[in-house]
Amino acid sequence: MQAQDLDRPTLRRLAETRPADGGLVVSAFLSLDPSEFATPPARATAVRSLLDEARRRAGERDGLSHAEREALKADLARVQRVLEGDLPTDGANAVAVFASSGAGLFEVLRLPRSVGSDVVIDHSPFVEPLADLHGSERRWAVLLSNRRTARLFTGGPARLEEVEHVRDEVRGQHAQGGTEQTRRQRSIDHEVDQHLRNAAEALRRRHRRRSFDRLLVGAPPELVGRLEDALDAPLRERLAGRVEVDVEHTTANALLEAAGPLLEADEERREREALDRLQAGVGGGGRGVAGLADTLEALSEQRVEILVMNDGFGAEGARCPSCGWLGVEARACPADGTPLEHRKDVVEDAIERALAQSAEILVAQRFEDLSPLGGVGAVLRF
Ligand SMILES: [Zn+2]
Repeated sequence: MQAQDLDRPTLRRLAETRPADGGLVVSAFLSLDPSEFATPPARATAVRSLLDEARRRAGERDGLSHAEREALKADLARVQRVLEGDLPTDGANAVAVFASSGAGLFEVLRLPRSVGSDVVIDHSPFVEPLADLHGSERRWAVLLSNRRTARLFTGGPARLEEVEHVRDEVRGQHAQGGTEQTRRQRSIDHEVDQHLRNAAEALRRRHRRRSFDRLLVGAPPELVGRLEDALDAPLRERLAGRVEVDVEHTTANALLEAAGPLLEADEERREREALDRLQAGVGGGGRGVAGLADTLEALSEQRVEILVMNDGFGAEGARCPSCGWLGVEARACPADGTPLEHRKDVVEDAIERALAQSAEILVAQRFEDLSPLGGVGAVLRF
């Protein structure tokens, strides 16, 4: 079974998945935290208890037709086969499996950080643990290059992976004098520039296929400016700094260690800026809301640019089964008059709605601004 890394398009697609005719989706999360599940027996036990829990939850669903019950059984069997099989866990700290025959959905995702083992059976994929992981963490690329070798890494603060290696034939330099040497040097410089352009082109191709949010570069001091000059505008906009490592020999882990402070500083700046904009908007100007009721209203009106919440924030609320309007209490939908349904976890609905309007999701992990404001808020587009 091929497992995918989590990215924003996948998250968005999952958030929008709804089986036809109210069918069900099994969402299973298995923690692979090495401190708990390092040995195969410990993991087998964890898998068994997760599957027991899944069957118990399935048994609790009332009012299913025969076909729906059979579909659910088949989905649980597929989840079981993946979890008990050869789990694609390399480098992952948790695995998520989504299965729904009704939606034609079967997805196995490797998660970069541990989430608690859990299983949810509902009418849509349970994406909240993923949004916590991914929404607040952007995708990074690191491009390293010397005169002839370039290496490209992607990932985030928890993990970097080498995805491409570019090597060009560039002649060595010889210490000779005279005009012959000057001419030769000029031609070598030209080759080096061509190599840097090839490196930038490899990065641009990657970005087009699967975009990243931020970029670091690393190169010997005499080359790093030329490497940055080789980047086109969309890539240059994403530049977040320079990292100093041995281009040819550094490992992904050593690179992560060297880049870590830059990544952390950039993530902290992003969180600070979002909270400042939110605070300014709440204080006047109207481009920000705080508290659950106003945030849900802004989401329902599709005005949210960034949904911000405290780590672990949870709340009950209500949702219109007809148009998806979100509110704090079960009254009539302001858009179409349908009675709203009570939701035990309206944060999950809020995240889905935010993803559907291409809003960023940010889990505040470094600053406490939201605590006196109700733990949740939003920066608005208008
Ligand atoms: Zn409605």
